[in-house]
Amino acid sequence: MAEMIMNESRRRLMEEDPIADEERRQRRRRYGGWTEEALDEDDRERARYRLRMLEAYRQLDEVNAREREEEEERKRWDPASRKAMLAMPLPVVGETREQDCAICLEEFVDGGKKLRMMPCSHSFHQRCIFEWLRRGRRCPICRYELPSVREDYLLYQQQQAAASVS
Ligand SMILES: [Zn+2]
Ligand SMILES: [Zn+2]
Repeated sequence: MAEMIMNESRRRLMEEDPIADEERRQRRRRYGGWTEEALDEDDRERARYRLRMLEAYRQLDEVNAREREEEEERKRWDPASRKAMLAMPLPVVGETREQDCAICLEEFVDGGKKLRMMPCSHSFHQRCIFEWLRRGRRCPICRYELPSVREDYLLYQQQQAAASVS
């Protein structure tokens, strides 16, 4: 709502209206007894006001754009809960749906690197998927979401609060 009102006031600022300006001058001359100097000075004052307002709007745009960028950045950086990562089972070769790791594209080798299976049943090298989940908590294949590190933190806070009560 506030944005709508601002957009409207901004639109009016952007629009020049020479006819309305001239009418205003005539009205003031005729009924207000304004001198030509006073009218000119008023026009200059209006022009200055207009520039200041447009500059203020431009700065507001910049702030908004920066905030949106930061918000995007926060969303991208969304690590998985460490507890959830460590709870993922360690399948052996043959137990996994996949034959290779979708992250590094290497084949799973019997007795080779450790594997981890996500709750969505997609498996990867442990090193590859842990590294991946430290940045974003979604499965690289199906985008299944592990709990976030923030959820770990909330749980920790609740436990602390409960402990302090009892
Ligand atoms: Zn891998
Ligand atoms: Zn998956």
